[in-house]
Amino acid sequence: MARYTGPSCKLCRREGTKLFLKGERCTSGKCAFDHRSTAPGQHGAARKKVEEYGKQLREKQKTRRYYGVLEGQFKHYYELAEKKEGITGENLLIILESRLDNVVYRMGMASSRKEARQLVLHAHFTLNGKKVTIPSLLVKAGDVIAVKESSRDSVKIKALAETMQSAITPKWLDVDKTALSAKVLTLPAREDIDFDFEEQLIVELYSK
Ligand code: SF4
Repeated sequence: MARYTGPSCKLCRREGTKLFLKGERCTSGKCAFDHRSTAPGQHGAARKKVEEYGKQLREKQKTRRYYGVLEGQFKHYYELAEKKEGITGENLLIILESRLDNVVYRMGMASSRKEARQLVLHAHFTLNGKKVTIPSLLVKAGDVIAVKESSRDSVKIKALAETMQSAITPKWLDVDKTALSAKVLTLPAREDIDFDFEEQLIVELYSK
């Protein structure tokens, strides 16, 4: 499965905001963006007038990178969002939030979406009782995501389960911190997505 393998912190500097791609490091004193927030490259610190197209492009890249999604898949999500009833930009964010790797991250079982993706790929989770290894799978209301029984004794899972106990989880997930599982009560609403997205700019970009 293709994925971005370059330096994560550069992406935050490029987008001019913390994207929280490296787990605990992002909230520690070691965050690279807290030390240097200018764009990477020789002219990164120079002030540039960002045109309308540039703003739309940056918003798309920021959103795509926040969720760790490649270009083609992001476009596919946009097309799905367009077909759904409601506001396309909001639909897009809700689809991105519904990815299994995001749900594993939101339930507190991973410190970043990247780690969540790895855990899913390594078959540590079940979806409605069945083993699942597809991080991009979209969950729906009523789905139950749980740590696989045979993974509970793994050192890594035990450590993550401990961290999970203090995790703040969203209200659209009913998280059982003893069973290491979460039920999707409903798909998230726009106001449940706690990051500063301007999704309308993405709609404008793709509508050209
Ligand atoms: Fe971004 Fe800071 Fe996390 Fe690096 S440590 S990914 S700069 S938020």
